[in-house]
Amino acid sequence: MDGKKFDTKPVTIRIKKIIQESDTVNTYVFDYELGAKPGQFVMMWIPGVDEKPISVAYDDGSEFWLTVCNVGHATDALFKMKEGDFVGIRGPFGTYYRIDEGDHLALVAGGYGAAPMYFVAVEALKLNCKVEFLIGARSKDFVLYTKKILGLHGVNLHISTNDGSMGFTGLVTNLLENVILEVEKIDKVFTCGPEMMMKFVGDIAWKSGIDCYVSVEKYMKCGVGVCGQCAVDSTGVLACRQGSVMKYNYVRDLCEFGKYHRDAQGKKIYFGEKK
Ligand SMILES: Cc1cc2nc3c(=O)[nH]c(=O)nc-3n(C[C@H](O)[C@H](O)[C@H](O)COP(=O)(O)OP(=O)(O)OC[C@H]3O[C@@H](n4cnc5c(N)ncnc54)[C@H](O)[C@@H]3O)c2cc1C
Repeated sequence: MDGKKFDTKPVTIRIKKIIQESDTVNTYVFDYELGAKPGQFVMMWIPGVDEKPISVAYDDGSEFWLTVCNVGHATDALFKMKEGDFVGIRGPFGTYYRIDEGDHLALVAGGYGAAPMYFVAVEALKLNCKVEFLIGARSKDFVLYTKKILGLHGVNLHISTNDGSMGFTGLVTNLLENVILEVEKIDKVFTCGPEMMMKFVGDIAWKSGIDCYVSVEKYMKCGVGVCGQCAVDSTGVLACRQGSVMKYNYVRDLCEFGKYHRDAQGKKIYFGEKK
């Protein structure tokens, strides 16, 4: 596998610190040598509740961060936990964003995707890359990680909000089109966020002849390729093993990408459909 380790045994570790990013998003800090690469995820076990995939938001070799949005039963239980409480961690798992020395990158994030993209930016700067960091959100209340990103010397931050309450008014895809026209050359586009956003980002990169990598985040249960829950139609590729980071050239031909995902029971849920 692509990561430094492929550790299927859970470790139980203490939450060292909890940072509130917004009303519904927290960052959990752990003292642990995880050895993750940007784009990889861990399976996070909330004792007595459930285990869920969460992307690594930062890893300096001795400390790592997970940024979590409270959306359901497991994340809700996590939000009730305190600093010093224990959670289980397996991983790191999955593929990662490959950064080449000196690349000019456009990182496009929506929602909690700003967190794993921050980890990409940190690592890209170590490889002398130029970074255009684009964040799209409904309104300013949903824009995450701005202070952390502005603290990175060498990263240009571009923000778009649908209602114009922060930055450019409109979609992050419009912003991406502008950035591609304005800067001399973008070598690669990396994106993480809602699937429909990633699809439109991928299409823009495709039309512009730029390599693009997306994070294919299907419902995952085991994280290690055993259960088959995250098999992607129509190839059966397992998003937890051959992903989650995949090249858009491949992903754009999958019949389900940008159209539907499957719930815990495997039922198809079309994007835009009411649950
Ligand atoms: C590789 C990967 C990385 C992830 N990284 C993060 C992260 O860094 N931060 C974060 O907050 N979340 C992340 N997620 C999503 C997180 O795992 C889910 O939101 C998780 O289901 C939350 O568990 P829950 O019990 O709180 O909510 P659930 O009760 O499981 O789900 C709440 C709602 O979200 C829907 N849902 C759950 N998972 C998905 C999915 N993969 N795609 C579309 N809809 C889904 C469910 O159908 C349900 O409607 C990631 C998912 C994957 C696959």
